[in-house]
Amino acid sequence: MTTSKDRLRRAARNVRRRVNQPKLLEALAQTGRECGPCSACCNAKAVPPLRKPAGTPCEHVSPDGGCAIHGSDERPRECGIYYCAWRVTDRLRDEHRPDVSGLVIDPPKQALRPFVAWEVWPGAADQPPGQGAINALCSQGFSVAVATHDGQRRLFGRPDLLHAILRSAEAATAEGGEP
Ligand code: SF4
Ligand code: SF4
Repeated sequence: MTTSKDRLRRAARNVRRRVNQPKLLEALAQTGRECGPCSACCNAKAVPPLRKPAGTPCEHVSPDGGCAIHGSDERPRECGIYYCAWRVTDRLRDEHRPDVSGLVIDPPKQALRPFVAWEVWPGAADQPPGQGAINALCSQGFSVAVATHDGQRRLFGRPDLLHAILRSAEAATAEGGEP
């Protein structure tokens, strides 16, 4: 059942998207990066409208790695507006492309929030390409929360920032809100 709280959250999300869209397009133009042969997010991330859980390949990935339903109404809106951090920030280097590093990294939604990374294959966060991507962000003062292939969460980065995140999550939980 959709509650008024859900509706408010959805409205706030839509406003955030409209405000952030020009910044996003600017960031894409700045890096000039294209997905190319990568389709890692179609594997690593959940797509609720398709009931696709994280860590499983989407049934619509075509053999050449593209989306077989690109341009059709069947393709969820979420897919069309998603850009991973590798595409929108040069804080990650070319060699950190998700199909190479094994980590699909979401840009942080707010300041003081960590980058959230999704393993494309089991153990990717512990392998040199994945560690390289995590270290690149941590060495610039960011934190990274990795969602591992087996559903665990691991945090990397500044301990002071991580403690602040945990404190704000605890406070939000105590107030009945979302972390
Ligand atoms: S993970 Fe990033 S680079 Fe790879 S297909 Fe998705 S948006 Fe493109
Ligand atoms: S619908 Fe297309 S873009 Fe979306 S997850 Fe599946 S293959 Fe990827």
